[in-house]
Amino acid sequence: MGFTKEECLKYVGENDVRFIRMQFTDIFGQMKNIAITHNQLAQALDEGVLFDGSAVKGFAGVEASDMLLLPDPGTFTIIPWRPQQGKVARIICDVKNHDGSQFEGDPRYILKRTLKKAQDLGYVFQVGPECEFFLFHTDSEGRPTTTTHDTAGYCDLAPIDQGENTRREICLVLEEMGFEIETSHHESAAGQHEIDFKYSDALMAADHIMTFKYVVKIVAQRNGLHATFMPKPLPGVNGSGMHINMSLAKEGNNVFNHPEKPGELSETAKQFIAGLLEHIKGITAIANPLVNSYKRLTPGYEAPVHIAWSPMNRSPLLRVPSPRGAGTRLELRSPDPSCNPYLTLALLLEAGLDGLQREMKVPEPVNVNIYHLTPEQEKSLNLERLPSNLLMALEEMQKDPLIQSTLGGHIFTKYTAAKAREWKAYDDMVHQWEIDSYLKAY
Ligand code: GLU
Ligand code: MG
Ligand code: MG
Repeated sequence: MGFTKEECLKYVGENDVRFIRMQFTDIFGQMKNIAITHNQLAQALDEGVLFDGSAVKGFAGVEASDMLLLPDPGTFTIIPWRPQQGKVARIICDVKNHDGSQFEGDPRYILKRTLKKAQDLGYVFQVGPECEFFLFHTDSEGRPTTTTHDTAGYCDLAPIDQGENTRREICLVLEEMGFEIETSHHESAAGQHEIDFKYSDALMAADHIMTFKYVVKIVAQRNGLHATFMPKPLPGVNGSGMHINMSLAKEGNNVFNHPEKPGELSETAKQFIAGLLEHIKGITAIANPLVNSYKRLTPGYEAPVHIAWSPMNRSPLLRVPSPRGAGTRLELRSPDPSCNPYLTLALLLEAGLDGLQREMKVPEPVNVNIYHLTPEQEKSLNLERLPSNLLMALEEMQKDPLIQSTLGGHIFTKYTAAKAREWKAYDDMVHQWEIDSYLKAY
């Protein structure tokens, strides 16, 4: 709602708000919170709220476990599904060390630091995400299943689309929380949906992505369903992506728009694209953080595999959607909704700025449908591929110094160590597929 500290206190005092949830996001993209009572809010806004950082994966060690949540009053909003008498609000917080100094492991801080760098160059980074998700049935004990709750496809209507009511409720709740919803539709796979909200500056977009996932899960649960942002919950059908639409503004003008040639991309846009393509392999372990993320990035499911761009067609990793002029933007199609949006957006902006600073040359666009390349075409186009599993993505992350300089030592070290363990745990497993394929045959 864009409140100041005083406005938060006034609102809480006048509107029967009894609890305020102090929310933050850990380095792996999980939202966390601590509730305080309304009496504590004034002090919390001034001094922060203590919590045990050693109990949050990837945060502090037990030696320095006391940490502070410092609320950002501009993110105050009522949680609409909680009781209307004795209301509950939430505020998104920055994470500080107990002495009030900056905690290097706070993903929101990492994004803010990169945004400040862009701002010093005169740029505002604007972002519009497109979040996809699945709705599944729950079993008799309320546990999630992978049984889809409808059999509809892209843009289908009721009665085949059974998600209409849940989507409608999600949109209404988000609007009450200050979102401007643009579109919502049934996606290609059965039980798969997409809801798009209006672009904003990148910090608000990242806060919105976190709030969005929270709301979708809660509303689904209230409808007896389980919502998941797992990138590829079912084999053989599309997975869920989170396309990121990006533009850069300077003095209120979209600098991706060619100043003299309407309909064409500016040199700045091309250099930004070149930077993104240069660093995307190193970014992938953050934008596609799960073992499962790589099961989405395979040919045939509208998700990118090759590192390429096109000013028109939608098959490559990066495309330029049709609006030009003030609406000119780039759409990166690899990120998935399980990623930490703060870290992902920080890396995308750093990569683009690196393209500008080093005046990188954009590769030739690829205007063929890359979903259906023959091996000969693939060879002649000389296309590189995104890392095809988490281990390869971690190797690429280690190779690109821009990733560590953006994330800082704390997050880089904790993240790569935890993800290497995650890969090993998966890799050590004998999967059902192996049993089915080999046990009898060998
Ligand atoms: N679900 C597809 C993906 O995994 C994207 C479909 C679309 O173009 O919206 O990225
Ligand atoms: Mg979509
Ligand atoms: Mg899209």
